[in-house]
Amino acid sequence: MTTRTVLDGAEISRALTRISHEIIEANKGVADLVLVGIPTRGSMLARRIADNISRIEGVDVPVGSLDTTMYRDDLAQHPTRAPHPTDMPVSVDGVTVVLVDDVLFSGRTVRAALDALGDHGRPKAVRLAALIDRGHRELPIRADYIGKNLPSSRDERISVKLTEHDGEDSVTISGG
Ligand code: 5GP
Ligand code: MG
Repeated sequence: MTTRTVLDGAEISRALTRISHEIIEANKGVADLVLVGIPTRGSMLARRIADNISRIEGVDVPVGSLDTTMYRDDLAQHPTRAPHPTDMPVSVDGVTVVLVDDVLFSGRTVRAALDALGDHGRPKAVRLAALIDRGHRELPIRADYIGKNLPSSRDERISVKLTEHDGEDSVTISGG
């Protein structure tokens, strides 16, 4: 099986810096903005984007984590899947929420996240950031902020490693 590096640490960092600038620009600043990561690595990416925004704008943007396990449409097939903690430090009523995930594939996780978000208020708008968009959407969902578009075959697997969790920063693709 061949494995190919798609992004190294410096490239991940640059992609997140660009996404941070794009979020600030689209939002015309950082007022009424909340970043919400989808565990596990989406939460780490949301934290990194918030740190970038803090460096760029000098403002701390709230960061939450939203577990989607109980809202998935395949819950019946995976009844024992362990939930991750949800941590929403602020209400999302009337704010712009940027959901953050590592890989966007079918779109079903994001659909579940939109459902889960409804328990925490009614945002003014919800946007989506993904480090990797690998295609194969099964729902009408698209990302507003993308680190890298990575056309893939269905049976390929993308490995996202982040220092906080995996001891290094890299994105690789293998199999297929
Ligand atoms: P979806 O729900 O869009 O099919 O898949 C997105 C979710 O599954 C994300 O939370 C993502 O972390 C995970 N995922 C889907 N495909 C891959 C992949 O190829 N590699 C990794 N690392 N995660 C994936
Ligand atoms: Mg994930």
